[in-house]
Amino acid sequence: MKFVTCPHCGHKLLGGDAGSCVCVKCNKCKGIFVVTIQKDSVSVSTAAEQKS
Ligand SMILES: [Zn+2]
Repeated sequence: MKFVTCPHCGHKLLGGDAGSCVCVKCNKCKGIFVVTIQKDSVSVSTAAEQKS
């Protein structure tokens, strides 16, 4: 399992296994992020960036 932290404020968002792709809201800064967990890496992008 990998743990993902908020890129904006550093708050811990969630833990997940490889292959997970989830949309999550940070309880601390209220940002909405799309988290993709792969076998060797974790990527976090803001939901707004996904629209383009
Ligand atoms: Zn945050």
